[in-house]
Amino acid sequence: MQLQFLGATREVTGSCFLIEVGGRRLLVDCGMYQGGRKGEARNAEPFPFAPGEIDAVVLTHAHIDHGGRLPQLVQRGFRGPIYTHSAGKELARILLKDAAFLAIKDAELQNRKRARRHLPPVEPLYVLADVEQTLKQMHGLPYAQEREILPGVRLRLQDAGHILGASILELWLREGELERKLVFSGDLGHRGSLISPDPTAVPDADLGGMEATYGDRDHRSWESTWAELEEIFTIGSQLRGNILIPAFAVGRTQQLLYVLAQKYQAWHLERWLLALDSPMAIATTKLYARYAALLMPEGEALTEADFSPPGLLLSQTPQQSMRLNRIDSGALIIAGSGMCTGGRILHHFKHNIWRRNCQVVMVGYQAEGSLGHALISGAREIRLWGERIKVAATIHTVGGLSAHADQSGLHHWYGQFRGRPPVALVHGEEHSISAFAARLAGEARVVFQPAFGDTLDLADLTGC
Ligand SMILES: [Zn+2]
Repeated sequence: MQLQFLGATREVTGSCFLIEVGGRRLLVDCGMYQGGRKGEARNAEPFPFAPGEIDAVVLTHAHIDHGGRLPQLVQRGFRGPIYTHSAGKELARILLKDAAFLAIKDAELQNRKRARRHLPPVEPLYVLADVEQTLKQMHGLPYAQEREILPGVRLRLQDAGHILGASILELWLREGELERKLVFSGDLGHRGSLISPDPTAVPDADLGGMEATYGDRDHRSWESTWAELEEIFTIGSQLRGNILIPAFAVGRTQQLLYVLAQKYQAWHLERWLLALDSPMAIATTKLYARYAALLMPEGEALTEADFSPPGLLLSQTPQQSMRLNRIDSGALIIAGSGMCTGGRILHHFKHNIWRRNCQVVMVGYQAEGSLGHALISGAREIRLWGERIKVAATIHTVGGLSAHADQSGLHHWYGQFRGRPPVALVHGEEHSISAFAARLAGEARVVFQPAFGDTLDLADLTGC
């Protein structure tokens, strides 16, 4: 019985863990690497196992860095079931189709360049047919119900409060006399969020696999985050420029829309043309409204109106998006992608980021190597489609909107385990993982900081 770490080790993206129990092979997550060409090139490499020999997959949530390589796994021979929360399955449909679309576009772009150098064409990572097949193999489960997914393996999902359908996994493994309970946090939510319950406490585990994306710091309080946003909007009105918010289509956008609707009058948002310029975020927001009962701790019903501040323009077509490009004042535009690695936000940058009266508001994690990371690190110039563009806009980082637990939130969640079980820290850059390991020192019996390929023997919990 063993657990091998095959992604998101000492980095945030590429989540992938292989469990071997009683001759069966179970994969937890199968995520893409994100942030920068070099890192992302790893997505095209072979898996470090034979996809056809995997018996089942459990997906913690639909984010691409957790499930983005599933269609490749299927394309390369995986035929087993994929278990995830029912709402997460709906979200995966949106996100994986978008990923296929991006992969096809990326291959086309590369092939145009390769043709000019007489190089053979490359295939996209995967296409829509692979996504369709993946969705056929996906089984939606509810929270809080235990079920046997393989001989000797039982699974229960608990709400992680991160995005719609995000799950903490409780896995009970049995091999002969040996029994072990593993708990994977997946991505844990940010306590006190307006549109997600707090991460569910899990009282017992023999080993915890925990994310540590923000293991090195605490977010601002929600109150000061609202004050920060209000100030940006006030300054924006004085500057008479545009405000650009590169937004993650899932979760962050809905949180923002919810706040803009709530604070519409208090923040005088009638002064702005509010635009959601992302078909994927629009589709996701509809899904959030449909699963509203899951979102609030007391099951208070949210509706689509809660995510729709008055006058919100839903920009679906490229033509609508281009019309927004022509506005030079008074527009507040939410557009993907969140780390500015592609999508419509780049066009808005081209038309605005060189203006002194423009403000860019970063509301989520920016992986090293991404354009978003360059901007928050103070880049004075960026390159878009071969063109050099000055950065004169003010770049704000509003970290408090994060959908991830901060260091105190992670610590609080770990503290709910009885008996201080050993824990393996993943989904975090090296400095975050070591900072959180230091916070847990003296509390957890053992803190593993696995490297890629490390294997833990689950009988005696040694190896990393
Ligand atoms: Zn996530």
